[in-house]
Amino acid sequence: HATNAALMARRRAALPNGLGQALEIFVDRAENAEVWDVEGQRYIDFAGGIAVLNTGHRNATVMAAVQAQLDRVTHTCFQVLAYEPYVELAERLNTMAPGNFAKKSFMMTTGAEAVENAIKVARAYTKRSAVIAFGGGFHGRTMMGMALTGKVAPYKVGFGPFPAEVFHAKFPCALHGVSTEDSLASIEALFKYDVEPSRVAAIILEPVQGEGGFYAAPIDFVKALRALCDQHGILLIADEVQTGAGRTGTWLACERWWAEAGVAPDVITMAKSLAGGFPLSAIIGRAEVMDAAAPGGLGGTYAGSPIACAAALGVIQAFEQDGLLARSNAVGERLTAGLRQIAARHPGIGDVRGLGAMVAIELFKDGDLTRPDPERTRAVVAEAAKRGLVLLSCGVYANVIRVLVPLTASDALLDEGLGLLGAALDATA
Ligand code: PMP
Repeated sequence: HATNAALMARRRAALPNGLGQALEIFVDRAENAEVWDVEGQRYIDFAGGIAVLNTGHRNATVMAAVQAQLDRVTHTCFQVLAYEPYVELAERLNTMAPGNFAKKSFMMTTGAEAVENAIKVARAYTKRSAVIAFGGGFHGRTMMGMALTGKVAPYKVGFGPFPAEVFHAKFPCALHGVSTEDSLASIEALFKYDVEPSRVAAIILEPVQGEGGFYAAPIDFVKALRALCDQHGILLIADEVQTGAGRTGTWLACERWWAEAGVAPDVITMAKSLAGGFPLSAIIGRAEVMDAAAPGGLGGTYAGSPIACAAALGVIQAFEQDGLLARSNAVGERLTAGLRQIAARHPGIGDVRGLGAMVAIELFKDGDLTRPDPERTRAVVAEAAKRGLVLLSCGVYANVIRVLVPLTASDALLDEGLGLLGAALDATA
């Protein structure tokens, strides 16, 4: 039988350096919120890929939908020969997105492609070129994705030049001293120094920054952005690649914008957990924006694969029949309560936060909020893996531990995982 070490050696010889790997583990099989490696070691999965398995590994409902599709047709290219699951999925996504206006959707394969296409439709509709994104934001590894991403190392180093007409404003983050006013002032500064508002096609933001550190956009900020967009004819794009598909306790995080402030984005991107582990992304938006591109301008060979569309319909079915939105909130409450208990004995944990089940802790040296602790963060992730818990870090300062456990995980498994996380923190204190 292969060992992790032997497979890592083959990986190093055959694959490029630039493909990072969080843990030196090769998985053999997975079930719901547990995985087993090639050496038979069991792990609790608090990562879910990277936010891809809200419905768990090999969810029975998703697997059944995929199996049924495998037995009918697996590929035609949607633009050549169409198939119903794609259309049905678009219809479902249109009704699940907030805003009392007509919506249309189309599918791609990756999150980065969804972002690319959100920008394409925004430019086609507004006939404008510029895009404003935020520091700390992450939008993918394609050229436009990198341009929009607001973190240089490791995402942009050596890969430029990037598409022009992308500008970065400050993302509000009270914990690190950036207020909503600071952030809005940074947009006004862009309008003054860099680009006139009438040239801006879109402002793109994550409702909760994912890779950037699990910081939620405050509702007063979102309200102000919507007003700014309306004033200048700019489209508001919500990148829900990481927040979407139930992670934050609603199907889309921006449903809270709608409920709390009557704000809806013009365009929304989804990927990751949308199809429960099968490659699929979606762009959902105002019908007239989505219709602006000429026929042939959108799409792709594999985009909206019948298997992935069937999987996404299975994901939506699983959410409905298993009450997974309520479960998302319950998981979030259980995790934050458990993490607060751990934080009580660990002054290095400077913050415990969550929106639904999108939960994180942030580590600082001696609990000093001006001194992020990326070294300990790395050590905790490594210690947790030794104990059988898969964790991910994130954050502009690489000092955030995030939890993206399947919403289908039992309370017992959540508690076991929290115990292992606590032990990893104890071991690195
Ligand atoms: N946008 C956001 C908010 C993301 O979190 C990610 C992936 N981490 C992407 C875009 C890119 O998605 P993908 O890796 O599927 O291209």
